[in-house]
Amino acid sequence: MLLRLLNAWFWLALRALVLHPLRLLFLPAERKGRPAFLAEYTVEGLVPYSAQERAGLHRFGGCINCGLCDAVCPLVGGDFRGPSIFALAYSRATPELPALRETLATLDRCGACTRCRDACPRSVPLLDIFAFTRRKLAEVDAALPPRRAPVALPEHAP
Ligand code: SF4
Ligand code: SF4
Repeated sequence: MLLRLLNAWFWLALRALVLHPLRLLFLPAERKGRPAFLAEYTVEGLVPYSAQERAGLHRFGGCINCGLCDAVCPLVGGDFRGPSIFALAYSRATPELPALRETLATLDRCGACTRCRDACPRSVPLLDIFAFTRRKLAEVDAALPPRRAPVALPEHAP
């Protein structure tokens, strides 16, 4: 038992102290650090958050799902259930930004309205959340490789 434990520790230590640092040493720059992060995670809609952004995120998290903002929003209807969806998305974790893309497009019609923000009993800064989400989604799009157009099938394909 003890031998097996020592053996496991040996391989773990070898990997952490020798192999991993050696690998980093010889990896090309684009496969480590920020470029590697972007390559791995932007396909999942994740982009890095600056220290300043992280510090500000707590302001977005106070939603109690009371629905008052939805009740005063003139855009509610059809597929748009209301602005609370944004506040809820930030109230538990950082949201999946691409999943908010279509809902975000509805907000192009907000104009100068601030009703949702003014109605919120928790002072959740909804308009700031909208703007922040737009900005981060633009970062996701900028970091993603260009989308390829779908390949057209021949007309008489089986
Ligand atoms: S700012 Fe936009 S989301 Fe908020 S209540 Fe007005 S129209 Fe609705
Ligand atoms: S009014 Fe404020 S607390 Fe209530 S659902 Fe909307 S964002 Fe959340």
